[in-house]
Amino acid sequence: MFSTVIFDLDGTICHHKASYPKIFYEIFAEQFNKHSNIWLRHMMHNGEHSGIEAVHACFPNMSPSHQQQALKTFTDRWAACQTPYAGVFDAIVLLRSHYNCQIGVMTNGPSQFQWAVMNKLRVLDHVDFAYASGDAFPAECKPSVALLRKLEVRHNFSPETALFIGDNPQKDILPAREAGWQALHVSPHDKAADPLPLSTFQDAIASHAKLELNWSSLTL
Ligand SMILES: [Mg+2]
Repeated sequence: MFSTVIFDLDGTICHHKASYPKIFYEIFAEQFNKHSNIWLRHMMHNGEHSGIEAVHACFPNMSPSHQQQALKTFTDRWAACQTPYAGVFDAIVLLRSHYNCQIGVMTNGPSQFQWAVMNKLRVLDHVDFAYASGDAFPAECKPSVALLRKLEVRHNFSPETALFIGDNPQKDILPAREAGWQALHVSPHDKAADPLPLSTFQDAIASHAKLELNWSSLTL
């Protein structure tokens, strides 16, 4: 039914309990509010970027080595606060074996930030490929049909055999459907839940319903 299933990361595979402004203050000793406009403009850049651009723009007088160290500390701290949703990697095993598909991750953000999170979660132990929008490939943010076309070419699949799973309607779901993919809008949680058969999962895809789910409840 699917040859390729691609997951969003934040809010789909993992979640966090960290205060971004608090981490920012602990590292830079300045209030995040003072820098948030410039910082966020660089963090959400639509193209190749690592995250150092934001540090450089906000703290131009800091030495390059100090900037790199601050970025590494920030990304490590941020990654340490991320937790995978219960059972999400078991659900990926189940989807892969049931559909005999390849599984990928496509996440928005600077390369160094997103890879700190993905490495902490050991995402590449569970999926076939993963990209941050800031990576040299694809160097493009969601939402974008062109980004999805790049993934089709790179991983050799056609849109009608692809499924995108994400928590954000604008960034994950609408562009996938516009590209001719199927899409599943999820709202994962870790609360107790009844078993969720794959038939219900597929019904939600077909009916465009938002699926609130505990990944660990997914079953054949
Ligand atoms: Mg998300």
